[in-house]
Amino acid sequence: MADQYLLPCPQCSHVHRVGVAQAGQTLNCVCGASVDVPTLSGLRRLEPVTEAAATKTGGSWSPRHGLVFLGLAVTVASLAWWAFLTLNIDWHGEVQPKIAEQIVRDMESLTPADSILAWQFLKSPLHEHANRPTNEMQAVYGRWTSVALGGAVLGVVLILAAFVLVPTARQR
Ligand SMILES: [Zn+2]
Repeated sequence: MADQYLLPCPQCSHVHRVGVAQAGQTLNCVCGASVDVPTLSGLRRLEPVTEAAATKTGGSWSPRHGLVFLGLAVTVASLAWWAFLTLNIDWHGEVQPKIAEQIVRDMESLTPADSILAWQFLKSPLHEHANRPTNEMQAVYGRWTSVALGGAVLGVVLILAAFVLVPTARQR
């Protein structure tokens, strides 16, 4: 005999999960109607709750679902963080020098006055800052990249653990 049964509301046909302990009681449905829970013998004629039915009616998440969701969230967040870091490293380490090279190349075809402006830009503190990935900065990026990739691995491990370690409700 199952512990829970599916009891549809006679007014709105919202399906309630009722336990044997609720036999003979009255439920308040979301539509406002009062739903009489049948007695034990009546309950047995209702559709018993199976895992498939529980999922269908949006029943509470199993521990496995929770763990998979957590794992996915951790993985996605970590990969997004890693992508963000990677883009920033490129910006500081590669893209800026390329722009500088481009400017130097362009200077060959500039008028003397434009050359002075370009030269001033190249010497500006802003440019120097962007063009100098310090060891300190790279160390910080390296550390955070490790954290991000570690997080991604942790997320995948969580998902795998959910399937390997957490028993399904049916096996319980
Ligand atoms: Zn109802």
